[in-house]
Amino acid sequence: MLFSRLAQYFKRIEATTSRNAITEILADLFRTAHSDEIDKIVYLLQGRVVPLYEAVEFGVADKFVIRAIAKAYGKGPDSVTREFKKEGDVGKAAEKMAGTKGQKISVAEVYEKLYELATTGGVGSQEKKITILADLFGASDPLSARFLARIPLDKLRLGFSEMTILDSLSWMAAGDKSLRPRLEDAYNVRADIGYIAKVLKERGKGLSHVRARVGVPILAALCQRLPNADEMIKKMGTVSVESKYDGARVQIHYTKKEVKTFSRNLENTTAMFPELAEVGKEIDANEVILDSEAVGVNPKTGRFIPFQETMTRKRKHNIDAARINVPLKFVVFDLLYKNGKSLLELPLSARRKELEKTVKPEKYLMLSPNIVTSDPQELRRFHNEQLGKGLEGVVVKKRESPYTPGRRNFSWVKFKEEEGRTGKLTDTIDAVIMGYSRGQGKRSGFGIGMFLVGVRRADAFVTVSKVGTGVSDSMWKELYGKLEAIKTKDQPKEYKEVNKLFTPDVWV
Ligand code: ATP
Repeated sequence: MLFSRLAQYFKRIEATTSRNAITEILADLFRTAHSDEIDKIVYLLQGRVVPLYEAVEFGVADKFVIRAIAKAYGKGPDSVTREFKKEGDVGKAAEKMAGTKGQKISVAEVYEKLYELATTGGVGSQEKKITILADLFGASDPLSARFLARIPLDKLRLGFSEMTILDSLSWMAAGDKSLRPRLEDAYNVRADIGYIAKVLKERGKGLSHVRARVGVPILAALCQRLPNADEMIKKMGTVSVESKYDGARVQIHYTKKEVKTFSRNLENTTAMFPELAEVGKEIDANEVILDSEAVGVNPKTGRFIPFQETMTRKRKHNIDAARINVPLKFVVFDLLYKNGKSLLELPLSARRKELEKTVKPEKYLMLSPNIVTSDPQELRRFHNEQLGKGLEGVVVKKRESPYTPGRRNFSWVKFKEEEGRTGKLTDTIDAVIMGYSRGQGKRSGFGIGMFLVGVRRADAFVTVSKVGTGVSDSMWKELYGKLEAIKTKDQPKEYKEVNKLFTPDVWV
C-alpha cells in the first residue's frame, strides 16, 4: 500500500467521531492491507513503530520536526515556524509547505525509516535523524506530510483504542463482530495487536496457535470478590490461599540474555527494576514468565512497607537512591511460561508445583506463602494471620483453574469479609466535597486544612468523612483555589443530614 493511501484513511478517521464509523473505516483499511504490512499499519495507526508495551519512543520536539521540514523543502526554519504558529499544528504547516509532486513511497518504506528514526541514537544522531525525516517529507505528497509530521511528535491521536482495532479485525475477517471474543482471547495471551492482525490476515480465522511468548506481556489475571469464606469454598472447592501483599504487580520476563518487566497496564517497567538484571541466579530455567508483586522492604527492620513508599521509585530519576532506601522483594505467585512452553492452560496446582521447582529464592525473589484448603475455618484463620502481620489479607485461588489472562472471574477472589468487622477500607470510592474548614497550624496558611466528603443518597448528599491527611501542600493550594470558586453562602439544601461535629467553615 502506498503511504499516501494510508494518509487518506488517517484523514477520514480524523474527521469521524462515531466509534462505529471508525470501526468500519478501519475494517476497510485492514481488508485492503497486505498481510506483510498490516502489522506496520496497526502500529502506525497508534502513532508508533512498535507495540505499545515496547519502550521505543521518538523523543523529539516541535523544533526537530520544524528543522526537518525546512531541510526537506529548502525553507528557513523561521518561515516554517511562522507557518506553524499560524496553523497551530506542525502537521498542517508541513502540509502547506510540501510540494505537490508526491512520490510513490510505500507504507513499508515509511515504516522502516520511522523505525530507524526512533532507534537511532548516540553522537551525531540528531543530524542523521533530521535527514531521515527530511527525506521522508521530500518523498511525500502534502497530506502524507501532515501525518508524517505528527507521528514522531506523538500527535497523531486518531482517537480509538486497541479494542476498536480488535472489533475492526473481526469485521474484516468475519463481516461482523462475532470474532471479537476470540481475538480478545488471543490478545490477552499475547498483547501485540500488530502480530494478532498479521496472524488473522495470514491464516484466516485461525487464532488458536497464538501463544504466549517471552518479551510480550500477558494480560494479568484479576480478582473477583466474594463476601465470606463459606461462599468461597462453596463456589471454588479446594483453594490455594495466598498472602496478599500491597505493592505493584510486576510480570517478569526472563531469558538468559535479557530481563523485561511489565505492569498491569502493559507498560514496560524494566527501567524501574535494575536489580532484576541479577535475578538469573534465582531461576532454574532458560526462560520464564513470572507473575509477581514487588514490595518494598524496610532495610532496618526487614518488614514490608506500604505501597505509597514503595512507589517512591516510580519517579524515574533517582532509581539508584530508591534502590538503597527501598530494597524490593518480588513475591512470585505464578509461573506462566517456561522453556518455550506456555503453562497458562495448566491448573494452578501444576503451575505452583513447577514454580517451586523453578524459583530458588535468595535475594530478590520470594515465593508467595500459601496454604491449600477446602475448609472455611482454616481459610479465615490464615486470613486473620495475614492481617495480624500487617499484610492486606489474602487472595483465594481455585486450585484446579487455569490462568485466565485479562479476566476478572471466580478463579481468583479477594477476601472482603473482615472489612465489615474492622471498618478497614481497602477500596476507593468516588465522593463529592461538601465543604471545607480553615485548619490550624501550618495548614492555616493554605486557607484550608480539612474538607468534608459525602456521597449521594436518593436526592440528598450524606457525609462520609472529614479528610485532613494524605494531601500534599500543592494539592491543598489547588483545592483551595478550586473550592473558593464554588463556595456557597448557605448550606446547600441537598446537604440534609450533616452532623454538627462535621459542619465545615465553608460550604461548597
Ligand atoms: P482492582 O483490581 O479492583 O483495581 P487492586 O488493584 O487493589 O483493585 P485487588 O483486586 O484488590 O487489586 O487485588 C489484586 C492485586 O493484588 C493483584 O493485581 C496483585 O497486584 C496483588 N497481589 C498481591 N499479592 C498477590 C497474590 N499472592 N496473588 C495475586 N495477586 C496478588
